[in-house]
Amino acid sequence: MRLDKFIANVTDWSRAEAKKILKEGRVTVAGKTVTDARLDVPEDAEVAIDQQLLRSAQPRYFMLHKPEGYISATKDRQHLTVMDLFDEDNLDKLHIAGRLDIDTTGLVLVTDDGSWSHRITSPHSGCKKTYWLETADPISNSMIENLSIGIKLDGEKRPTKPAAIELLDEHTARMTITEGKYHQVKRMWAAVGNHVDKLHRESIGGIVLDEDLQAGEYRKLTVEEINRL
Ligand code: URA
Repeated sequence: MRLDKFIANVTDWSRAEAKKILKEGRVTVAGKTVTDARLDVPEDAEVAIDQQLLRSAQPRYFMLHKPEGYISATKDRQHLTVMDLFDEDNLDKLHIAGRLDIDTTGLVLVTDDGSWSHRITSPHSGCKKTYWLETADPISNSMIENLSIGIKLDGEKRPTKPAAIELLDEHTARMTITEGKYHQVKRMWAAVGNHVDKLHRESIGGIVLDEDLQAGEYRKLTVEEINRL
């Protein structure tokens, strides 16, 4: 099968987009950079975009309850990473599907299936992420209104997509967003004049953090959970 077709089949990118990504030198086949969209690849080819494997023979899927103090990276010289919490073979093949800040806790999904994680991280996918948060100042109706409409953040071209806010009490709320811009939740609250003191991710696209997992623990996803995305 042609490489651009392979990419279009296993991701939500079109063939035209696949060609563009290839030209940008972001695609490897069996570890080697390939730019030719016409390359013939087998069904089980090891194709990666930005180092994320699109398929693997037996894909693995995990949910982690991320504690504070761990960064969402696979390697770091200074800090512990969420991967330090995993006791699995071939850790270098796994990647994080949607990062959290060092001080944010909660649900992190980890996999070696790049096309599955792309459904979470792609800006086009509209995948819902729900956070519980605590603010420094009381939450006002106008804050909720502005966040619900969408906010123009510094350095961004377009306003954020509307957020769904459920007020829990004066200082706490549940917030659902469908994008994953850098520090998005904290920046949105800062833009309406408040400050997020605590942030915890409860769910991603219908996968809910298992309440039996203590901070620092992880487990495999069930087939049913994997198929929710
Ligand atoms: N938004 C943030 O600001 N931080 C996170 O960790 C996740 C979403």
